Amino acid sequence: MAPSSGRSDLIVIGGGPAGTTLATLVKKYAPQREVLLIEKAPGPRHHVGESLQPGINPILKELGAYDEVVKAGFPRKIGAVYIWGKDRRPWENIFKDANNTALTDRASELRNVVNASFQVRRSRYDEILLRNAEKTGVRVERNTQALSIIEEDGRIAGLTCRGADGEIREYRGEFTADCSGQNGFLSKYRRIRQPHPRLKNVAAFAYFKNARWKFRYTGYKYETKIFICSTSRGWFWYIPIDQDLVSVGFVTGTQFVKTNRLDLRELYFSELKRCKEIWPLLKDAERVKDFDGSGQDFFTQNDWSYFNVAASGSGWLAAGDAAVFVDPILSSGALLAHLGAQRAAYTLLTHWIEPDADRQAVLWRDYDAFTKEFSARFFAMATFWYGNDLNAPKWWEKATAIQRAHLPVKLSDRTAFITISTGLSQYYDRLHYDDLLREDYTILDDQDFYRAVLRGDVKKDPGKAIPRNRLVPRFLYPYKIEPAFLPLYGKGVMHVAKRIRFLKHADADPLNDVFNPRRVVSAHHLEFISGIDGRRTFDEIRARAAERGVPTGWLDSRSLAFIKELALQGALELKSAYRRGSPAVKSFSPSHSSQRSRSASRQRSRWPAA
Ligand SMILES: Cc1cc2nc3c(=O)[nH]c(=O)nc-3n(C[C@H](O)[C@H](O)[C@H](O)COP(=O)(O)OP(=O)(O)OC[C@H]3O[C@@H](n4cnc5c(N)ncnc54)[C@H](O)[C@@H]3O)c2cc1C
Repeated sequence: MAPSSGRSDLIVIGGGPAGTTLATLVKKYAPQREVLLIEKAPGPRHHVGESLQPGINPILKELGAYDEVVKAGFPRKIGAVYIWGKDRRPWENIFKDANNTALTDRASELRNVVNASFQVRRSRYDEILLRNAEKTGVRVERNTQALSIIEEDGRIAGLTCRGADGEIREYRGEFTADCSGQNGFLSKYRRIRQPHPRLKNVAAFAYFKNARWKFRYTGYKYETKIFICSTSRGWFWYIPIDQDLVSVGFVTGTQFVKTNRLDLRELYFSELKRCKEIWPLLKDAERVKDFDGSGQDFFTQNDWSYFNVAASGSGWLAAGDAAVFVDPILSSGALLAHLGAQRAAYTLLTHWIEPDADRQAVLWRDYDAFTKEFSARFFAMATFWYGNDLNAPKWWEKATAIQRAHLPVKLSDRTAFITISTGLSQYYDRLHYDDLLREDYTILDDQDFYRAVLRGDVKKDPGKAIPRNRLVPRFLYPYKIEPAFLPLYGKGVMHVAKRIRFLKHADADPLNDVFNPRRVVSAHHLEFISGIDGRRTFDEIRARAAERGVPTGWLDSRSLAFIKELALQGALELKSAYRRGSPAVKSFSPSHSSQRSRSASRQRSRWPAA
């Protein structure tokens, strides 16, 4: 073995979107730290995953790589078009239709970047990110492959790797980050990967030149769309990744291929010719040989969804595909990789400045929870997608149900769908966090914000307050208070906060935990919540909170809005004190839960009738 390669603060395995995001952000915010990234490919390499989401753009800006990505001239992506199931009429999600002015008005880094993303040739995109990491000061060793783990007293202490010179070396580090993609270097070693029980697919794809453009499906050369089109045996993606280059992939069930002993290549081309919508676009096109120096003109790839039981442990963390992978139906992979790695960087940077070991442990638990929760929205959408043959409004409704548990704002069903699929929902979360952390938060901000995001409600109730003295709030579910960490974007640290989680489904598993409503809260919120027990009117709750030290200013500006948010999330019922039979004073018991969920959904559909 060659001499050791020294000790780093962080060793990152893999130079894809996750690895480069994590390494660059850690180096950017903690320049004194030694960050090493090893990548097994010697130079730019082919990769699947070409259609990006706008939620990535602010992260590219934070990395300092956005301008380079723009300069590379990748086609802009303005949305997605779907033909799915029996109904062959196309429907589309155009990003700008979500009208995210409520976001862009307040978060300057989102201005001009939420209405479009890119469709990229991944060899070039990933190379831009890797060079940018080097420019930031990350030590990048290409042509270096992680071979095995060094473990000491149960802690991951580093790696043995084969370097560019063919020598085997030890690399030691305080933290080792697995960003090795589907390879899942560490998760395989730790045996923590769990396949999704239903999303077990396989993909076959190829690249074509001289394909035709059809605006309805593909957009224009500079303003492209991803076209998703189902057949009776699976579905196609059609992604223009250059003005004269299109990626065409077919996804089908692994079991279907096995049971019928199908040859994937034959299946791909026979389905392509049978697809009435896509074949006319490719009839005169030419398949690219040796795409991106891969030596291949046809590719297959395992497409099984999975998640890690844990995304971190003693001396290690995982991000991107190495931590979780959701079926590509919503083009969420690169988004989850960038986002997960951004969160991992913030968590690690906070760990380094947090002296208390217990709080460090809570910090990493929060990172695990984040990885599961954010991907759970996509898991829920994808599972619903494959399990049904429904029309577009049904997908959108599903998105609202998912979104509502996380975000106490009222979005239209279509906007909820676009917001989830574009990865912008985290920025709505973030605006709420920002409000919580601001000391000068006033009722005026409240009105502006709610006027923008609860537009429907405001129209029905223009400026008129809900008659407070008549309002009796009642929790529909038991709740627990848990620690939560809020990333202070652009600063590279997390702020400690608390979160209330309502246990609508007490047995929810991490893959599907999207319907348990949750909300980050301040100490004032907690005092206020503790007064809600179904016996008090709104005014009584406020008076009690004031007695317990909640400032009147806070009560004036936040309490009513907070009640409204919880009602929107379906966690709270609002009743008129004068209605017969009210107020209800039953305490929660698990046997009431289904009755309560029915009551909750009735209540949601009636909102804002309080
Ligand atoms: C069929 C299919 C279609 C998809 N379509 C889309 C899409 O349209 N849009 C989208 O956003 N996502 C899509 N994805 C997902 C997307 O490809 C991934 O989510 C994304 O690339 C994850 O980034 P990452 O950085 O985690 O991993 P990767 O991009 O896989 O990067 C991992 C890196 O680690 C390196 N590496 C691996 N092992 C080692 C080792 N032992 N030592 C050193 N280096 C190592 C690899 O060479 C690689 O460069 C698709 C996925 C599939 C399977």
